[in-house]
Amino acid sequence: MPTYDFRCGGCRKRFSLAMSISDRERKRIKCPKCGSQRVETVFSSFSVKTSRKS
Ligand SMILES: [Zn+2]
Repeated sequence: MPTYDFRCGGCRKRFSLAMSISDRERKRIKCPKCGSQRVETVFSSFSVKTSRKS
């Protein structure tokens, strides 16, 4: 299942969610911090960033 990166248009928080392609098209993505639905997808090379949490 691919991981998508998003950025909230409200609070500017970046977050990532793992979901299927159909889920991404059907679901309303909400910011986990402020609950805003003004969320934009951040296109990044998600094959590279795997060990980013320290
Ligand atoms: Zn937010």
